[in-house]
Amino acid sequence: MLRYLALESAGQCGPCLNGLPRIAATFPTLAAPGPQGGTREDIARWAGLVEGRRACHHPDGTVRLVRSALTTFAAELDAHAAGHCTATDHSPLLPVPANRS
Ligand code: SF4
Repeated sequence: MLRYLALESAGQCGPCLNGLPRIAATFPTLAAPGPQGGTREDIARWAGLVEGRRACHHPDGTVRLVRSALTTFAAELDAHAAGHCTATDHSPLLPVPANRS
């Protein structure tokens, strides 16, 4: 979803050109079990840099989705960081568009 939202802009403003693609590219690190390093902290910092610096509300809405995901799935992200995953079905829920950049 984040990659879709990052790709669905004209890329005319800094938050869409730089911020959203970077956040989207980093999220797969959280979606799979394994070391996360400072990924969550980086995403939180980048979200703060994106927010309120745009010509429309697209990046702000995307950042709200990011923060909601980090909060809602915090326990699962902690499990992933410890090398575990509670999912019983690992197939994607939504089709992911090919990278157009
Ligand atoms: S902030 Fe809005 S107007 Fe600017 S590039 Fe993103 S979607 Fe387009």
